Amino acid sequence: MPRPLDPVGTAQPHYQSDGARHHWITEAGTFHHTESSMPSKIPTLRTQAFVQQGGRCWYCCVRMWCASPIELASARHKGMASLKCTAEHLLAKSEGGKDQANNVVAACWHCNRTRHKRKLPPKPEAFRADVRRRVARGRWHHPWVRTLGLL
Ligand SMILES: [Zn+2]
Repeated sequence: MPRPLDPVGTAQPHYQSDGARHHWITEAGTFHHTESSMPSKIPTLRTQAFVQQGGRCWYCCVRMWCASPIELASARHKGMASLKCTAEHLLAKSEGGKDQANNVVAACWHCNRTRHKRKLPPKPEAFRADVRRRVARGRWHHPWVRTLGLL
């Protein structure tokens, strides 16, 4: 029997699973992952892109996790939510972009969120160049990401 979820905001992030549903609870929120058959092609495209990219973010090249941070050796770090693999459309769906392999890349949650948080999200190529410059200066992910060999 699955245990009831602990309230969000507990100091130690933790992972729970009842077999079909997975919950990763961090200070930043609760992340759900469902392994049911979904009509969306996105989970498949995301996984394909993840494999093609060697498990690294299309923007910043950080190592990502898909279903659970446990996939990364250093899963216990509380900032692991930012390294979750997300699907990123190169051409936004609102601009006619399709759910197709040639339009979907795998990006870490941090890059994805940061790009779309901007008032006018930059084009993927421009954003990638910007991210790479910041990575080179050590000003993208928190220092522990590099310390742990994930970037
Ligand atoms: Zn990234």
